[in-house]
Amino acid sequence: MDLFPAGSRSAKQGDPNWFTGEVWLETIITAPEPARNRSIRAKFEPGARTAWHSHPLGQTLYVVSGSGLVGTRDGPPQIMRVGDSVWISPGEEHWHGATPNAAVEHIAIQEAESGFVTTWMEPVADEEYLLPPR
Ligand code: MN
Repeated sequence: MDLFPAGSRSAKQGDPNWFTGEVWLETIITAPEPARNRSIRAKFEPGARTAWHSHPLGQTLYVVSGSGLVGTRDGPPQIMRVGDSVWISPGEEHWHGATPNAAVEHIAIQEAESGFVTTWMEPVADEEYLLPPR
């Protein structure tokens, strides 16, 4: 059993190659093999978001504060609010982040496949990010 006290692992800023705007990432768990769970808490300031990306075994998002956006290739983004859960299918290209005017914090739960969790793609352009949400 391992107990990681709150605040014992420092938050990291999102890599500017993969994130737009100010993003803070805090590890919840990087479970040792053979477990695959890789979970983080992410905070996006208004306007901040991930680049386009996918996860080999899918991803669950759970919003704990504020309101955010999640976008896929098939249309405008959707608003996600406190208490909402989002399932992103394995390999589905998507992005997530804050709304232009409000910060968001979400838990992101995903599993590693052969040690890798995310395939990164291009940044989300303002024209995509600012589409009126459906
Ligand atoms: Mn994702």
